[in-house]
Formats: sequence, C-alpha cells, structure tokens
Amino acid sequence: MVSKHYGESWCQKHLADQWLFQLQEKVDADLTEKARSKGCLLCGGRLHRSDYGRKSRGGPQWDVRFSLCCAREGCRRRHTPPSVRFMGRRVYAGLVVVLVSAMVHGLKPERVRMLRETLGIDRRTVERWRQWWLGVFPESSFWREARARFMPPLCLKTMPLSLCESFEVERRDRLLDLLKFLAPITTPTAWKELVM
Ligand SMILES: [Zn+2]
Repeated sequence: MVSKHYGESWCQKHLADQWLFQLQEKVDADLTEKARSKGCLLCGGRLHRSDYGRKSRGGPQWDVRFSLCCAREGCRRRHTPPSVRFMGRRVYAGLVVVLVSAMVHGLKPERVRMLRETLGIDRRTVERWRQWWLGVFPESSFWREARARFMPPLCLKTMPLSLCESFEVERRDRLLDLLKFLAPITTPTAWKELVM
C-alpha cells in the first residue's frame, strides 16, 4: 500500500535541483553528439548542429532544443535527437510531466493541487497527462517492447508512479536513468505515435 504522502519530498527536491538540470543538459549534449556521429539516416551525409528555440515550463528554464541538420545539398533533413529534458511537443519539461503525473497517484488531491499551483500548471493539463500515461503510453510500441525488462510487471493503473518506484527515483542519478529510458519517445518522429 502506497502512503498518501508518498514521493512528495523527492518530487519537490528534484523540481528545484539546479545540479540535476545541468546534468540533463549535459546528457542531451551527449545524445546529440552520438546522433551526429551516425550521420544522416537518409543519405549518409554529415550532420551539423542546428538547434532551435524551445522553452520549457514548470521548473528548469531551458530555451534551446538541441538538433541536427544534414549538410548535404538536396537533403538537409533535420534530425532531432532524443532528449532527457524535452518530451515531444509538451511545453512542460519532461521531468515535470513525469513527477507531477506520478504524484497524482502518490498524494491526496489537495496536495496535488498545491504542487500544480506552485508550478503554474492547469488542472486540465494534469488530467490530460494522467490519461496519456494510462491510455496512450501503455499502448505505444516503445512500451510494448520495453515492458519486458520490468519484473514483476509494473502496475499500469498507477503509471508513471509505478515506473518511478521501479527506478527508485528518490535518487537523482536514478531519476536521470528513468529520463534516459524514456528519451527514445521524445523525438518528433517517435512522438507522432504518442499524440492523444
Ligand atoms: Zn541527408
């Protein structure tokens, strides 16, 4: 049985952790470098950095999404690598979406409301996230492949709290691991399948 205050302290700690935000930026830079070294997936051309403006709400103040562009004339295809900061087209940082959505299952509604208001998140937004985690995410091809690594199977009714518990995200490095685990779904291409 999960306590009704479960996770409140680590949730708030992570959401104010400047060091964590810096680590996330570094991980994103590494993911971008890794994608760049592979070259253009379409024509094999060289990729160069072509970042674009993207603001994150709800915690960390990021304003650039790292991205790449094929340098070859006639291709110029954009390749936006996975991210541990941005989640598809969501305006809130990925970690805000994960942690606040988890708290919907970990806290009493009153505490969730306080958390929401502190971060300036609309009630309907959190409700949409909840439906996404319970409906869209478990049906995604990403999850259908990834779920096998969780033994015993995770409780789908308390997603993403069950995911957070499994990764033991009280620790900063474990939260980062969870965000890395989710990174493949954050690219514009992968995200298309995950839009509600
Ligand atoms: Zn190309």
